[in-house]
Amino acid sequence: MVASSFPPGQSFSAIYGPVKSWRYGRSLGIDPIGIISTCSFNCVYCQLGNIQQRTSERQIFVPTEQIICELQAIPTAGYLDIDVVTFSGSGEPTLALNLGEMLAIAKKITNRAIVVLTNSSKLDDPAVRQALTTADIVAVKLDAISSNQLRHINQPTETIDLPQILAGIEQFRREYSGILAIQTMVLANWTADIQNNYIRFLERIKPDEIQFNTPSRPRILTRTLESRGNEHSENRSSSYQYFKCITADKLTALAEKINNLTKIPVRYASRT
Ligand code: SF4
Repeated sequence: MVASSFPPGQSFSAIYGPVKSWRYGRSLGIDPIGIISTCSFNCVYCQLGNIQQRTSERQIFVPTEQIICELQAIPTAGYLDIDVVTFSGSGEPTLALNLGEMLAIAKKITNRAIVVLTNSSKLDDPAVRQALTTADIVAVKLDAISSNQLRHINQPTETIDLPQILAGIEQFRREYSGILAIQTMVLANWTADIQNNYIRFLERIKPDEIQFNTPSRPRILTRTLESRGNEHSENRSSSYQYFKCITADKLTALAEKINNLTKIPVRYASRT
């Protein structure tokens, strides 16, 4: 059990935002993970800061009843200026055992498109793929195309390896009928080998789109619930770790090259 760094008595709200998403417009966030950041990765750029509980075990973190109560507390008119409802929050949403029922309930109550952002590490699990069938859009993370990259960028739990992730994405692609996006954080220039391996994999799975980005803000060093969305700004009291990223020009060139070669739509956003 990991101790929370939040002040005693701080209440947890699973719903946050709406936040402005560069991909999906105005997004109402639902956090199925809770106060303690929990993920099977500990990405070097994670906006949540250092992950407090790194695990691949699925469990119930936030009761479905809490999600229902919070969603029902929003008047119907409150959903009118929301483009999508996004499951992300304080870690990896597919670790939540009740994800499937939460997606179905959120869709019913909000009548909005449901998006799930996942790190792909659980897509080899049939129960996870089944839970995701209700989502309209699933954005799956693929930052690494070599085991070395995976270890350095995503720092997964010991039980996760790259072949398992790639096989999980491929299987999910075969089964899922919604919109599948591959989301890739590009931190440094890619070698020719990395580019070729990435392109070969994408040509095999043919996602509906590719999303390239660089970290949109520095990494927070002290965990706060605000780091779930884009509500915190750098002039608050928290400390940050700054990254030197690939330049906007190079990201654009990479995105255009991959689009030209694969004919898959590529969207990209850069902080630099
Ligand atoms: S997968 Fe997402 S939540 Fe998990 S460490 Fe990486 S960026 Fe953070």
